[in-house]
Amino acid sequence: MKNKFIIFTILIFTQSLFAVDEILQTNIEKHVKFLASDELGGRLTGSVEGEIAARYIATEFESYGLEPLKDGSFLEPFEFAAPPKIGEFNRFEIQDKNQKLVIQKDFVPISFSNNDIVESEIVFVGYGVKSDARNSYKNIKVKDKIVMVLRGLPYNFPDSLQSLAALHYKSSEAREQGAKGIIYVTGYHNIDVLSDLVRFRPYNKNKDNAISAISISQKVAESILKKSKKSLKKLEDSLEKGSNSFVIKKSKVIIQTDLIRKNNLASNVVGIVKGTTKPNEAILIGGHYDHLGFGHFSSLSPNHVGEVHNGADDNASGTAGVLELARYFAQNPTERSIIFMAFSGEEMGLLGSKAWLKNSSFAKEKISAMFNMDMIGRLEENKLIVNGVGTSEIWESELNSRSEEYKLKLFLTKDGSGPSDYSSFYEENIPVLSFFTGVHEDYHTFEDDTEKLNFEGQFRTLKFIGEMLEFAGNYENDIPFTKYKSNDPHSGIAKTGFRVYVGTIPDYSYEGNEGMKLSGAKSGGPADKAGMQKGDFIISFNKREVKNIYDFMYAIQDCKPNKTVPAQIKRDGKILDLQVTPINKKQ
Ligand SMILES: [Zn+2]
Repeated sequence: MKNKFIIFTILIFTQSLFAVDEILQTNIEKHVKFLASDELGGRLTGSVEGEIAARYIATEFESYGLEPLKDGSFLEPFEFAAPPKIGEFNRFEIQDKNQKLVIQKDFVPISFSNNDIVESEIVFVGYGVKSDARNSYKNIKVKDKIVMVLRGLPYNFPDSLQSLAALHYKSSEAREQGAKGIIYVTGYHNIDVLSDLVRFRPYNKNKDNAISAISISQKVAESILKKSKKSLKKLEDSLEKGSNSFVIKKSKVIIQTDLIRKNNLASNVVGIVKGTTKPNEAILIGGHYDHLGFGHFSSLSPNHVGEVHNGADDNASGTAGVLELARYFAQNPTERSIIFMAFSGEEMGLLGSKAWLKNSSFAKEKISAMFNMDMIGRLEENKLIVNGVGTSEIWESELNSRSEEYKLKLFLTKDGSGPSDYSSFYEENIPVLSFFTGVHEDYHTFEDDTEKLNFEGQFRTLKFIGEMLEFAGNYENDIPFTKYKSNDPHSGIAKTGFRVYVGTIPDYSYEGNEGMKLSGAKSGGPADKAGMQKGDFIISFNKREVKNIYDFMYAIQDCKPNKTVPAQIKRDGKILDLQVTPINKKQ
């Protein structure tokens, strides 16, 4: 009797001490503060700091009582092609001058250059394009030569061919024509580029494009062109009228390129809470923990490359969500298992989620649904965007029936593919939902910091997501999958190149047709200078009526850089007339 009583009290005691029945805001804050601290260095995929973040997540998983899925470890490493680095042996020499030029000042290799030593005279080929509109290679032989091309395109080039401005395209065309090297020069029309040297951007393009490629400064370009009594400015003007290609006299140069390309390792962090009645089926909930490191690629604040890009919203917020939900569900399991996953490599192209699916530690066909959290820390006006709602017929009503309790205004989009890890799962015919509090001015800049987060909002958002997770984990039937194909003819529009930059930040959650709603204007950009603000609706631009973001994109296609155009905005019911001067979009 006595013993029984003791056991009974211990049970009550332990339960009241350890039972978790609440998601806690303080925990969310704690995780974000740590992950987005300067010490974590922006959590670049494959970096030491990224590894520290992974271990932190793994340690938390373990403390909650999650189980690993593979080899007894929460860390599931994968190999990826690391962005290239500039090696020691890069050289650019103008031969008859016997002049050795300085890397990062006079020249810089392009990240897709091969490693080679090439030597030849230079053929100037204008913009280096071959199309119906223009053939820079007509009547000129470039076989085994080094070509010099201008960045960008002439002003009057057709909209449909704007993609030919791409550096990568121009190098492929030059190679196609038999050239063994390509030199990029920035003309004077490109007024918005920060430097006349192409910034070395180590994308995740680990592959070289089988040609030596460098960018040189305007000063060096002028000194080379002078030998043919040409100047960059005059050439650029002449190219507005048509091709102008020629062999530059006495222009023998040597280019040596040396880029280090290596494979590297990074880890997804994966743990499971076993289901009570259907442990072999699982709902997977994840968020990427990697970010941009010090901004050497994908940074939208190019003047602050080298500073920590903390990524508090993107995506320490989602990672904190994964952690706090893991803690909660470890104590409150559902019928299905729940896999908690922090992805790496997202910013380099969904590398972590793709790698995991290729070699998954849980049977893919037994994953009933996938939830993704990417940027859930900046709830504003209670607007929560949920993507992927069209991927299962059961989502929409379940989402809508729960939102009010958490005072959330939902903006639902149907498409299962988009720029985050849920896309990888959707490709495997798994129903998905992705939660997102919206894009903002600090997105992918060095200013995406902890103090800008709305933790109270994230707390409500996370409780809402937790309820959806509980629903999915306990849903009695199989969760039906629907392949949702977007019928929107404009959906590919974001990929086309525009020649001008306006600096508007669209409010993607706005779905009406009253104009393009802004969630801000890039400070110092043309829209900002014109006086556009957050909350404004652009209702006409360059004399075109604008009902939505697509109309706006068409309207800017007709704009020329540095040419002022009229715009009308609606602010607080009033219509204002503004003048906007778009600038050249950098290539
Ligand atoms: Zn993200």
